[in-house]
Amino acid sequence: MVEPKLYKETLERLKALGFPFELPLEVTHYIGGEFVQGENPFPVIYPATGEVIGSAPEGRAKEVDLAVEAAHRAFQSWGKMPPSERRPYLRRFAEKIREYRPVFEVLESLDVGRPIRENRLGYVDRMANNIEFFADFAVTHGSEAYPMENGYINYVLRFPVGVAALITPWNMPSMLATWKIGPTLAFGNTAVLKPAEFTPLGAWLLARCAHEAGLPPGVFNVVHGFGPDSAGELLTKHPLVRLISFTGETTTGRIILKNAADTLKRTSMELGGKAANLIFASADLDRAVEVTVRAAFFNQGEVCLAGSRLLVERPVYEPFVEKLVAAARALRIGDPLDPETQMGALIAEEHLEKVMGYVEHAKRVATVLTGGKRPDLPHPLDKGYFLEPTVVVDVAPSDKVCQEEIFGPMVAVLPFDTEEEAIALANNTPYGLNAIVQTRDVGQAVRVSAALEVGTVWVNDWFVRDLRVPFGGAKQSGIGREGGHYGYEFYYETKNVCIANR
Ligand code: ADP
Repeated sequence: MVEPKLYKETLERLKALGFPFELPLEVTHYIGGEFVQGENPFPVIYPATGEVIGSAPEGRAKEVDLAVEAAHRAFQSWGKMPPSERRPYLRRFAEKIREYRPVFEVLESLDVGRPIRENRLGYVDRMANNIEFFADFAVTHGSEAYPMENGYINYVLRFPVGVAALITPWNMPSMLATWKIGPTLAFGNTAVLKPAEFTPLGAWLLARCAHEAGLPPGVFNVVHGFGPDSAGELLTKHPLVRLISFTGETTTGRIILKNAADTLKRTSMELGGKAANLIFASADLDRAVEVTVRAAFFNQGEVCLAGSRLLVERPVYEPFVEKLVAAARALRIGDPLDPETQMGALIAEEHLEKVMGYVEHAKRVATVLTGGKRPDLPHPLDKGYFLEPTVVVDVAPSDKVCQEEIFGPMVAVLPFDTEEEAIALANNTPYGLNAIVQTRDVGQAVRVSAALEVGTVWVNDWFVRDLRVPFGGAKQSGIGREGGHYGYEFYYETKNVCIANR
């Protein structure tokens, strides 16, 4: 294993922060309450230097079977506990996450290549809240009863579904894992988490948190590995898995749905996006640029919610683009572990190549105003998967740059003349996850938000959500909702009981 200075320093730092495992980073599965060494190791790569910083085991049939069976055994008692008995376990789980806050912050940067400053913007709190919120919600949430006209009473009981496969992507690995773990466990299901192969570190520490919180063995399991022909696919076909919560690409969602069909699993699919960011002439332009830069380049643009299509009303098009280009150029790209860094590295070499494919295409069919190349960074960062924030103009709305999810720091800017045209452009993709509307005209915000075919609209901001609202995508961006009073139904079976009055 290569140990560059940066990595050596990081290991020392992790140790000092209370990293709870032996170093170097040799990730293990977590099955039935035990950390299992595993077989078939694959490398863990730090995206900022391209170097191998550890290894993770690939779970195959043996590990998947063991984990699902452990979860199934644990379900027999966990599923029968009243929510108030489950709550203290989950609260301790959340507390452990907070205790390991600085370690999570570093691991998340090592896993994803994201700047550590972004991990310090409430990321770890949100992880803990995801678990606490549902632990409390399950306790306080009641049920409906309908006294019928004939004197009968029809009421609703809720009960857990069974073993859940939680399949997560690499862009927000620890946050997305907890958002699924929270409702899964709070409502009495048990879980096998399969983190993305690029980002096993956060899930490893989450297992440690669950372990130290004293969760009964098998309630929460982690199996590492890949998707097709590996742990991911095996989980989606396993007969004892009753529920799949998946976040990832739309194409992967389709495959998982097909694979889950034979065993008729309940599925929740949070898939890709191609969000429009509509900037109207009445918007506060400086604020609009600030929101736009965040929505476009946060996490290197590797966010399904990224505002990657900028629709700008003609009168402010030129000043907006000018300010946007200046702001993009001013972003500090570099070592994700440096607290001053504002943009880190893309997840992997093959992903950088995919994004560069869109850049090269844009150079042919449109105008690249800024970015479009790898930045000049000192060794060992010169080997990292960095790409400058990229702004493209003069591109057709039907072009693939405006239609496909690029999942990188690249945005296209299009002008529009009327509100109707803006709405039509915004809705002109197969995706429907979210949109951003920037205007100071309240009536316009209301009208446009109502007309957009998406699951979430942000007005004059981005990436803020109260956990009580449902979250998910319209059109090809997903099936179902997670979170909130509406979304939690996914994690429960219901049964209605009708009692006669005689
Ligand atoms: P991303 O590129 O955002 O990671 P993917 O959809 O490729 O999106 O992957 C998301 C998650 O789905 C990862 O954990 C990956 O290993 C898993 N995955 C990929 N293909 C499959 C599959 N056929 N069955 C189950 N899981 C899969």
